[in-house]
Amino acid sequence: MTRRYNFCAGPAALPLPVLEQARDEMLDWHGAGLSIMEMSHRSPEVVSVAERAEATLRELMGIGDDYAVLFLQGGASTQFAAVPLNLMGENGVADYVNTGQWSKKAIAEGGRFGKVNVAASSEDTNFSTIPPQSSWQLSADAAYLHYTPNETIGGVEYFWVPESAAPLVVDMSSTILSRPVNVDDYGVIYAGAQKNIGPAGLTLVIVRKDLLGKAHAQCPAMLNWKTAADNDSMYNTPPTFALYLAGLVFDWLQAQGGLQAMEVRNRRKAEKLYAAIDGSSFYANPVELQSRSLMNVPFTLADDSLDKAFLAEADAAGLLNLKGHRSVGGMRASIYNAVGEDAVDALIDFMQDFERRNG
Ligand SMILES: *Cc1c(COP(=O)(O)O)cnc(C)c1O
Repeated sequence: MTRRYNFCAGPAALPLPVLEQARDEMLDWHGAGLSIMEMSHRSPEVVSVAERAEATLRELMGIGDDYAVLFLQGGASTQFAAVPLNLMGENGVADYVNTGQWSKKAIAEGGRFGKVNVAASSEDTNFSTIPPQSSWQLSADAAYLHYTPNETIGGVEYFWVPESAAPLVVDMSSTILSRPVNVDDYGVIYAGAQKNIGPAGLTLVIVRKDLLGKAHAQCPAMLNWKTAADNDSMYNTPPTFALYLAGLVFDWLQAQGGLQAMEVRNRRKAEKLYAAIDGSSFYANPVELQSRSLMNVPFTLADDSLDKAFLAEADAAGLLNLKGHRSVGGMRASIYNAVGEDAVDALIDFMQDFERRNG
């Protein structure tokens, strides 16, 4: 078996020990004589898997009892609609900050259910910056302030938390679990699982309990966080196998030393890669220094006619999925938790070799 280095932005690499454990438990989960996928979501086995996953996640992130943890479906994109439906009320207004493609999608969806005020935008810098908070035009009566702590496509990350009277609502899809955060700073944290949590099909929502029960009268039951909270995320059939795998990833993170340890490792990986890019005139990253993502590192070649050869040779060298998003071109290395330092070292070696041969 040859496992290759996977820099995919999502669905992304999973830790090898997690895949091995899932393989070993696939046919016969803990002596039950069947796989976890084949059991009722109301069975004691699946309920225990869900409870354990939630408990481990609460420990990892330091989530207090005043927050509900919901395991849902539909991806972060469904939450773009669920957020306004749960929080905006009738004729409400919400503030949004536009720092890239995912912010834009959240803004477009929010505007379908109420008034969206775009408090700040970095579109004029081609999304290579985060507008300083002093420039934000917040509304006096906003139901919430929505922003995207890590823009997966542009590779732009906040290393600070905005000041806001309204609850902060954040799409943490591509930065969650990469480093510690103070959950109490936020009203709602949501994330699709397929970057840093587990396989696609699971969506995580962490919501402060006082924000439950405010949903729009037309809000579908499946999008209503209170319905999910009241039913322990089992109002309907949850994605049981994805939840089981997420639980294994949470266990793995704990065994690595938790989120402090992941931050140390993730910073080391990112610093190396940015140093390699900055140290050459052959490669470039456009993002302002203080906002460079630890998880998604886009880069371009000085001569973009070499892009195709770069990608083909990288693939042949066992370095997969380095193509940039179709909206921005170039390359992107996504270096989530499950992408080891060995993968980053291999990528840097390849980049330097490619430059020597083509520079
Ligand atoms: C991947 C991603 C999304 C989209 O997630 P889906 O689960 O595919 O809906 C939304 N926001 C961010 C920041 C992402 O990285």
